[in-house]
Amino acid sequence: MSKIVKKLYKIVNETVFPPKCLVCRSFIDPPQSEENGYSSAVDLSLNIQSQVERLFAKYLCWDCIRGLVVVESPLCSCCGLPFESRQGIDHRCGDCSASLKKFRIARAPLVYEQIFTEVIHCYKYKGKIQLARPLAELLLTSFRFFWDKDSIDVVVPVPLHLKRLRKRGFNQVYLLIRNWQTIAGQVHLDLNDLQIERDVIVRNVSTVPQTGLGRRQRAANIKDAFELVDEAKIIDKRILLVDDVYTTGATVDECARLLLHHGAAHVDVLSLARAV
Ligand SMILES: [Zn+2]
Ligand SMILES: [Zn+2]
Repeated sequence: MSKIVKKLYKIVNETVFPPKCLVCRSFIDPPQSEENGYSSAVDLSLNIQSQVERLFAKYLCWDCIRGLVVVESPLCSCCGLPFESRQGIDHRCGDCSASLKKFRIARAPLVYEQIFTEVIHCYKYKGKIQLARPLAELLLTSFRFFWDKDSIDVVVPVPLHLKRLRKRGFNQVYLLIRNWQTIAGQVHLDLNDLQIERDVIVRNVSTVPQTGLGRRQRAANIKDAFELVDEAKIIDKRILLVDDVYTTGATVDECARLLLHHGAAHVDVLSLARAV
């Protein structure tokens, strides 16, 4: 299609089907490239708040974007839980002091509240696959923000169970990390030393979904639910585990235990959202 036909198609399409906010369904006026200072080009130098505004401008109304809550200090230096009091410095939360985690640190860009929950649901369950790109960029921005890129060797998604993988057709977390090197390459950031792996860990038991279970039940449900497939890929490696939502941390902690048991140097965790 020529440029002009494409533009015409877009105008007609938007007049007949004006874009709606994915969360509240109100009509939105998505920013056009280069207008109002908006750029669709990758920019990993933005802080998380500005990145969130840029990435979701095409999908959410301004009210919903403003409702998204960025995780900010003071937070738990281990599990990344943002503290209710907005004063003071990062320190270990009560839970992380009482029971040491297997992973070193866990971080997430956004709080798992109503609006972001709906965004993640749109991506995971409602087939809004177009969200893969903004969510991938959000994860990569957070990786850049919380880690030195040379402090991680291997990036591993938390695996789905095979049954659920078959039903859904894809591991939605892997889709958010597999293009990191390409995205970074667009801003001349070299992540080529980073190994992005899909099948290092698998689920070997059909675990009940963690949703609706208490802390104890979650830990019991997840115990021994994973199996390491390829030890060679993780021995002496510094691992970044990636998941969609950090709830109690039981799942990622169990994955971390397994990876450390098989010789990983250390395990960190990055998720899209942090339940509080
Ligand atoms: Zn909205
Ligand atoms: Zn903590």
